[in-house]
Amino acid sequence: MAQSTESYEFLEEIPQGTEPSKSLVNHWKVLSVEDDLDYQRALVSSLEALILPNHTKLHILTANSAFEASAILSTHKDIGLILLDVVMEEDDAGLRLVSTIREELGNAHVRIVLLTGQPGFAPEKEVMSALDIDEYWNKGDLKLNKLHSIVSSNMRTWNYISELAEATQGLKIVLEAARSINSRYDLATFTRTVLAEIGNILGVEEGGLFCMGNSLNPFEDAHVLTATGCFTQLEGLKLGDFQLNELFDDLQQALSEKRHILTPLRSVFYFETNEINEKCYLIVVNSSAQITDAHINLLKVFSENISSGFTNIALLNRVTELAYTHSDLNIPNRNWLKREIQNMSHLEWQQTRLLMLEVNYFDEMKFTFGYEFTQNVLTSIYHSLVQILPTGSRVSLSGHKQFAVLLGSHFELSPELIGKLTYNEVEVEGVAHVSSFTLLDMRLDTLNQRSAAIIISMAESELKQASLKNISYLQHSQQESDLIKRRYSLMGELRNTIREGKLSVMLQPKVCLSTGKVVGFESLARWEREDGSFVSPDEFIAIAEASGLIIKLDCLIFEKTMEALKILVDMGYRIPVSFNASSFDLLHPDYYIFVANCLASFDIPAELLDLEVTETQTMSDYERIQQCLQRFVTLGIKISLDDFGTGYCSLAHISNITAHSIKIDRSFVSKLEKDKNSEHVINMILKLGKQFNFSIVAEGIETEYQKQWLSDAGCDIAQGYLYSKPLVIKDLIAWLTKYNKL
Ligand code: C2E
Ligand code: MG
Ligand code: MG
Repeated sequence: MAQSTESYEFLEEIPQGTEPSKSLVNHWKVLSVEDDLDYQRALVSSLEALILPNHTKLHILTANSAFEASAILSTHKDIGLILLDVVMEEDDAGLRLVSTIREELGNAHVRIVLLTGQPGFAPEKEVMSALDIDEYWNKGDLKLNKLHSIVSSNMRTWNYISELAEATQGLKIVLEAARSINSRYDLATFTRTVLAEIGNILGVEEGGLFCMGNSLNPFEDAHVLTATGCFTQLEGLKLGDFQLNELFDDLQQALSEKRHILTPLRSVFYFETNEINEKCYLIVVNSSAQITDAHINLLKVFSENISSGFTNIALLNRVTELAYTHSDLNIPNRNWLKREIQNMSHLEWQQTRLLMLEVNYFDEMKFTFGYEFTQNVLTSIYHSLVQILPTGSRVSLSGHKQFAVLLGSHFELSPELIGKLTYNEVEVEGVAHVSSFTLLDMRLDTLNQRSAAIIISMAESELKQASLKNISYLQHSQQESDLIKRRYSLMGELRNTIREGKLSVMLQPKVCLSTGKVVGFESLARWEREDGSFVSPDEFIAIAEASGLIIKLDCLIFEKTMEALKILVDMGYRIPVSFNASSFDLLHPDYYIFVANCLASFDIPAELLDLEVTETQTMSDYERIQQCLQRFVTLGIKISLDDFGTGYCSLAHISNITAHSIKIDRSFVSKLEKDKNSEHVINMILKLGKQFNFSIVAEGIETEYQKQWLSDAGCDIAQGYLYSKPLVIKDLIAWLTKYNKL
C-alpha cells in the first residue's frame, strides 16, 4: 500500500485562552482514521493544541484502518467529525469507509473530511460528487489555522444538524404522544397513556405516578389515582401518607407553586382545570438517565397537550353529567336510561326487567299547583322509589311524568310492592302527598328487539294505553310486542301506498226509514295490500293518525270520493255522499284548501257532500274544531257527528255544535235485541237530536228487528249490512238499479 512518508507540521499558532471551569467544558468528538502513525501523531497533537470557542475541548479518537474505524463508529454515535485518510489497507479503503458509514451504519450526520497525501489519486470534484463527504484536503495544505477552521466549522455544523435531528425526532414522539392521549376520554386510560408517553419522550421505563386533588385544598385532598413501575405501591395513597420524603417535597412544591418541577431525577407536572371543576393533577415520572434541555423543551410542549387533555376530559365529564341527568332535579334522565339499556351485556339483558311508572293526574297537578310544586313531587317520588325498591334498582326520570326502573328480573313483584308502586304517599314541602301511578312491567328477554330507543318508546306507548284504559298495573306481553311491530311495518307500507295513490273507496248506502228511499252514501277507505289481503280501516286510520299520514290519506280518499260522486252525478243520481275526516285534517289548513279546490275542479255542488267527524275528536278540542267545521259549512258542506254516544259530548256543546246530523254508533244498534241499556241510550240520543234539530242516522243495522225498532223509535236514516255492505262504485250502481226497482 503506497503511503506518503512526508512529515507534517501544523505551524501557525492560535492564541491561547484561559482554562475554563470543568463544568462548562463542551466536548467535541473527533475521529482520526489514518494508517500513517507518524502523521496521525502529528495530527492528534495539533488537534490537542487547538483553542476552540466556548471552552470546547476535543475528545480525539484514533483508528488506523477502515475496519477499526467502523468498529469505533458503531459504538460512538456522537462522533461529529472524521478526518479520514483515503489510502490505507487498500487504495480506496477510505472511500469505502465513507459508504459503510453512510449506508450501513446509517450515520448521515457525521462530517467527513477526506485527507490524502496523493492528490492525483482521488480527484476532488469526482469524489465530492460521488460520495457523501463534506471536505477534501491535501495533507500538505493542512496548516494549523486551516485545521482549526475545518474542525470548528464542521463540528458546529454537526451540532446544529444533530440538535435539529434530535428535536425533529422529539417532536415526532410528542406528536405521536399527543395523538395517543387525545383519543383517551376517561381519566384512568388518559393518565396511564400520559405516563407511558412521558416515559417514551424521556426514553425511560421507570414508571410514573398520577395524583388528583381539589385545587382549593390540594394538600389534604390529593391522592394517587394511577401508579406504575417503581411507584406501584403508592396507588390509592393520600399525598400526606407518602414515606418518600424527597418525592413528597417535589410534589408539595409543585402544588404550592402551581407549576412543573423538572429535576434531573424526576419530572413533576402540575395541571389544573379550575375553570371547569376545581381539580388539580400531578404527574410524576422518574428517570435515572440524564434529562437534557431538549427533553425539558419537549416535555413543556407535551405538557400543553396534557393540559388540554385534562380540560377536555373535565368538559366531557361535565357534558356527560348534563346529558344524563335531569338538569333541575339531578336525577338520571331518559338518555341515561337509554345508555344503560344499550350497554347491557347479553346476560344482563336476560336478567333485567324495566318498570315504567306514570304519575296519574300529573298535568292537572301542574296546572293547579304550578311547576315548582310538581318538581318537588317528582323529587320526593324519586327518593321514595329508591327506598321502596330492592337494592341495586336503577331509577330514572324517563319522561316529564314517567319514572323508569331497571331491576333484576328474578325479583318477584309482590302484590304489596305493586300496591306501593301504584299508590304512593310522599312528603312534599312538609305535607303528605298521595300520588297514584300506572305501572308497566316489561321483562327485557320477552322483547324481540334490542334498540334502547325503541324499547323505551314501546314501553311508553303501552303505558299510555294502560293509563287510557284505567289499568293501574300492566304486564307486557309478547302479543303486544308483535302488534307494535306489525303497526310499525304497516306504517312504512302505508306511506308508499298513499304516495302511489293506491288506496280506494267503497260506498255504503243510507236509507230513509220512513220512505225506504236511498238518501245518501258513506265513502269508506279501503287498503288492499300487494298480496291481496285487506287491512281494516280501524287499524290503518289509527296508524295514519299516529304517524302524521292522515292528512295525505284523507286528501287522497276525498279525491277518490269525488271521482265516484262525479260518476253518480253524471248518471243522474244527485244523492249526497259523506266522507270521513279526522280532527287532524280539520285543524290543518292544507286539508280545507284541498277540499275547496277539489270541489271547484270537479264542478260538483257542495250540498252533495257531508263531512263525518267523530264525536270524540270534535270534543277533544271543541273551540278550534268548531271554527274549522264552520268553514266547511260556509262552503256548503254538511256535517255529521259520527259514532255518537261513545264519547263525552257535553250538553253545553251539543246545543252549539255546527252539525246537521248525528250518527248513532253501531255498538248500541248491534246490542238492541239483547241489551235494554242500548235502547235507553238510543232513545236519549233520538230525543236530543229532535230537540236540537239534528237528523239521526243509525249505523250498523243488520237485522229487520233493529230496522223496525229504530223506525218505531223515530230514527230518520239507516245504514248497515241489512241494506248493503260498502261496495265499489260499479257494484254500487248495480245495487242501486236493483234496489230502485223493488
Ligand atoms: P265509520 O265512519 O263509523 O264507518 C262505519 C263503519 O261501520 C265502516 O267500517 C262500515 O264498513 C261499518 N259498517 C257499516 N254497516 C255495518 C254493519 O251492518 N255491520 C258491521 N259489522 N259493520 C258495518 P269500516 O269501513 O271498517 O271503517 C271503520 C272506521 O274507519 C270508520 O267508521 C271511520 O271512522 C274510519 N274510516 C273509514 N274510512 C275513513 C277515511 O277515509 N278517513 C278517515 N279519517 N276515517 C275513515
Ligand atoms: Mg263515518
Ligand atoms: Mg261510525
